[in-house]
Amino acid sequence: MNALIDEMIAFRRILHTYPELSEQEIETSRRIQEKLAEWGIEYKVYDNHGIVAWIEGKPGKVIAFRADMDALPIEEKTELSYISKNPGVMHACGHDVHTAIHLFLLKKAKEAGEDFVGTMKVLFQPAEETIGGAQYMVKRGALENPRVDYALGLHVAPQLLAGEVGLKGNAINAATGDLTLRVHGVSGHGAYPHLSVDAIVVSGYLITEIQSLISRRLSPVIPGVISLGSIKGGVKNNIISNYVEIKGTVRSMECSVMDEIEELLKRLCQGLSLAHGARIEMELHRGFPALINDCALHQRIIPIAKRILGDENVQEFEHPSMGADDFAYLSNEVPGSYYFLGTGIKGKKNHPIHHEKFEIDEKALEIGLKLQWNLYCELVKL
Ligand code: MN
Repeated sequence: MNALIDEMIAFRRILHTYPELSEQEIETSRRIQEKLAEWGIEYKVYDNHGIVAWIEGKPGKVIAFRADMDALPIEEKTELSYISKNPGVMHACGHDVHTAIHLFLLKKAKEAGEDFVGTMKVLFQPAEETIGGAQYMVKRGALENPRVDYALGLHVAPQLLAGEVGLKGNAINAATGDLTLRVHGVSGHGAYPHLSVDAIVVSGYLITEIQSLISRRLSPVIPGVISLGSIKGGVKNNIISNYVEIKGTVRSMECSVMDEIEELLKRLCQGLSLAHGARIEMELHRGFPALINDCALHQRIIPIAKRILGDENVQEFEHPSMGADDFAYLSNEVPGSYYFLGTGIKGKKNHPIHHEKFEIDEKALEIGLKLQWNLYCELVKL
């Protein structure tokens, strides 16, 4: 067991040293394939570097695990001995941890030999951070032949200590949408505003109204967020700007709420266009769906997690996160469960994911492997 853990930690450090951006997971995919071939585990390579690996044993359920492989465009600022050697790229979302845990979960299953029950499938997926690589693997049949009964996923969580996990039934992550607003005005001299349509002033109203849209138009008991992350427009002090582009993210826990927000935004753009004589274009591109954990599966997982980690280390979250994960494409197709694996280091300030100094307690790898293995062994029974 210890040799396996040491090998897993070493493998994860290599992934951490050589992180790759979404849709460019070439070396990462090659390293995984190399190990699978070495261990004699069957696998199929998908386009975009995705891999499905599987081990079939005695009759039992088919359980799929998701391992995302991509890193982020962040310059790492940790002092780790295995700091990223790829400039401007960092495993700041722990996908190196996810990949290592599930690769070695396969190794553990392989080592079980003839006693192994059921079918374990691992989906090494590209591009979680951008296009949602999971949806393309689903479209190309990753959950078929044999059909998957349950899909399990985890995500590192620095806000929990290594040894702890956070779980929740039903909605755990949000649905997302990328919002773009283009305000077209009429330019002119700053001294004669009445002869122009000031796109900056119209944008000011638009930004403020959007915030009251969530607080005044949406029921206060229904979660929804609109955050505007970028605004660009204007040229010079005394030129009235004829164009402003605003970009943001919209999040909610349900499709119907996204529909409602989209409708409210449309009406707002029409109303402000009319009032100011501007033209406002709005685009809302729907991103990942909400991540809904199967309630029955969740109820089965709780006692297993408590047995493995101790009651005090299993936190049942009351509220969902407004984060998003493309694991939702798997849990939309088959009963799924996704939980947060504590990676926080005791007695240290733990930076959040997507931070240039994000670090993990490596003990979490062993805990993740142990929990996934035990969940598999229990859930695989027919
Ligand atoms: Mn992530």
